[in-house]
Amino acid sequence: MALTILDTCINCDVCEPACPNQAISMGADHSVIDPDKCTECMGHFDEPQCVQLCPVDCIPQDPAHAESAEQLLAKYQRLQAAANTEQNASCEKR
Ligand code: SF4
Ligand code: SF4
Repeated sequence: MALTILDTCINCDVCEPACPNQAISMGADHSVIDPDKCTECMGHFDEPQCVQLCPVDCIPQDPAHAESAEQLLAKYQRLQAAANTEQNASCEKR
C-alpha cells in the first residue's frame, strides 16, 4: 500500500531526500507522495524511511492505494528497471 501525507505536514523537507524512489515532492500546500513510486521502501529498507523521520507523524498508509507485498515488490522491480534503462541511456550519450 502506498503511503500518503496528511495536511498536518509542516513542510520540514526531511522526508524528500530520504526517499529511495524519489516519490516525494512539494505539492500545492505540502509535501506529497506519488503512489506510483512509493513501495513502502520495499527493496531498499525494512521500514518506510519517511515515516521513521517525520517529526509530526503525518504519513499513514493510503487505503485508496491498497497493494499486496507482491505488488509492492513488482513496483520496486519496475522502478529499478526504469532507473537502469535511464542510466544506460545517459552512459551511451557520453
Ligand atoms: Fe518513499 Fe519509502 Fe516513504 Fe514510500 S515509504 S514515500 S518509498 S520513503
Ligand atoms: Fe511533511 Fe513529515 Fe515530510 Fe516533514 S517529514 S515534509 S512534516 S511529511
